[in-house]
Amino acid sequence: MKVISLNCNHCGAPLEVPKKARFVTCGFCESKLAIEHSGNTYSTAVIEELQETTQQLARDVARIKSSSDIERLDAQWERKREQHMITGKHGAKSLPSKGGAIAAAVFMGGFGLFWTVFAFSITRGASSVGAPGAVNIFPLFGLLFVGFAIFAAVSQFSKAEAYERDLKRYQSERRRLVNDMQESD
Ligand SMILES: [Zn+2]
Repeated sequence: MKVISLNCNHCGAPLEVPKKARFVTCGFCESKLAIEHSGNTYSTAVIEELQETTQQLARDVARIKSSSDIERLDAQWERKREQHMITGKHGAKSLPSKGGAIAAAVFMGGFGLFWTVFAFSITRGASSVGAPGAVNIFPLFGLLFVGFAIFAAVSQFSKAEAYERDLKRYQSERRRLVNDMQESD
């Protein structure tokens, strides 16, 4: 059996080990050592240190993975956010908001109500002087407008809700990935 001479990597004591051995326990300091050889040179490494290196590597890999997961999530969200955009009157894109839905409803609904009341008072005046009955239709346009305002508001409100739901999901997922990354530091 061939024997090689080594030094303990921990205490420096000389060790003799069988050439084929892969591990040895130092007889002086009792360190558990791994025998490494490259080419013709042999050396020892304390196993706990090796484990630490391996764990560090695993942590590095985990960190790289989480950071690329975050990048992918961000890119995904960028696309999704785009899909949530609503196109305004002048072609400008914006994100739906509950406040915006309510403001638009109040504004348009208010206008519709005003129209209805205003047109009603005019047509009443008109029919009392014998104008054709067709003018009675004018107040109805106002009601139609109110109906449209409510419909538009409900539609934008539910879009805003869907957007907020997706936004929350994205934020919590991102927070989880950031935590994962910090834990692996
Ligand atoms: Zn030793």
